[in-house]
Amino acid sequence: MAEAHHQKIMKAVKWDKENRSVKVEKVKVPKIQHPLDAIVRITSAAICGTDLHTTRGRIEMDDHLTFGHESMGIIDQIGDDVSSVKVGDRVVISGLANKIGPNGSSILYGTFGTGDYGVAETASQEDGGQAEFMQVPYADDNLFPVPAGKGSELDYLLLADIFPTAWFALERAEQVIGDTVVVFGAGPVGLLCAYSAFLRGAVRVYSVDNVPERLAKAKSIGAIPINFSHGPADEQILKLEPQGVDRCCDCVGFECLNEKGENVENTVINWAVNVTRLYGGIGQIGVYVPKDIGAKDPATMKGILPFPVGLMWVKGISLKGGAVQLRLYQDVLLKLIQSGKAKPSFVFTNKFNIDDAVKAYDDFGNRKLIKAVFQFPSKEHSEAEAEN
Ligand SMILES: [Zn+2]
Repeated sequence: MAEAHHQKIMKAVKWDKENRSVKVEKVKVPKIQHPLDAIVRITSAAICGTDLHTTRGRIEMDDHLTFGHESMGIIDQIGDDVSSVKVGDRVVISGLANKIGPNGSSILYGTFGTGDYGVAETASQEDGGQAEFMQVPYADDNLFPVPAGKGSELDYLLLADIFPTAWFALERAEQVIGDTVVVFGAGPVGLLCAYSAFLRGAVRVYSVDNVPERLAKAKSIGAIPINFSHGPADEQILKLEPQGVDRCCDCVGFECLNEKGENVENTVINWAVNVTRLYGGIGQIGVYVPKDIGAKDPATMKGILPFPVGLMWVKGISLKGGAVQLRLYQDVLLKLIQSGKAKPSFVFTNKFNIDDAVKAYDDFGNRKLIKAVFQFPSKEHSEAEAEN
């Protein structure tokens, strides 16, 4: 009887709301709670810029929720009604939680590990994947099997969110072969967007940021770096492209900085309208929110930003944004990875043990690194057990 009262414990990266910081906690390994659940033993979990919106106080998250929506691992248990995956499968966990509707459309109901969705049937289903195990709801819809032995773990891991997200920016901007493209932001998403623009046939790609290490990385993949700390990005780009560029991708969002290094939320969108040519397109996948709890004025708190509607109309520019429907792009990007045409893992610069999560978040938040991942070799998983 005694063993039934034992439950394994694990380490997880938790939000400590009171102290406004992340912390590593030992918690119980999650259990199957619904017939469509799966429990995944995590092997790699990346930190995303989205996680920093919480740590910087711009998006609220419930206390003690586990961070992480970019994880992969091995299926440890499945519920009775899970049909498309099995125990032992190596899977990527789609970071933006889906439930596939009856006509095959994807109903997005939030992002794991951000606390921004309210339809989960148990509280623990909102927990993310920066932990040794994760409970995944609607496993058939949210687990994406990857084949053994081909591609690197860190290439596949990027299918969880940012490679499809970066690709989606170019879809939203309506990029075609031969286009010139400006990508705002040379963080991990911006770098993958610039990389994807070349995969999709761009002739010139400009990468806009103010961090020299990130611009150097952009240059290493063939992009033309634009450092906006030397002056407004739109002015610098228009000197090089007097007619404007075909496409702009906003891979920064509402936490963007101006040339003085100040957060002015509409900076990137204004620069994008200014540098996009007549009848060009803008893809906006950097996050904007209808409720910005850290904003300075009442309009911005409601996500209302001054925007050059007149100039956009006169230029006939199209603007499309939003969060990616991951399933639309994961298959094609998986093929690019498997065939060796794409090696998106170049964006990772640092690997961490989960015990060093505070440092990993600090270094990422301070832009001392580009992309960090927690890795969990199986033999290092917590073996300890706790009384229930
Ligand atoms: Zn992400």
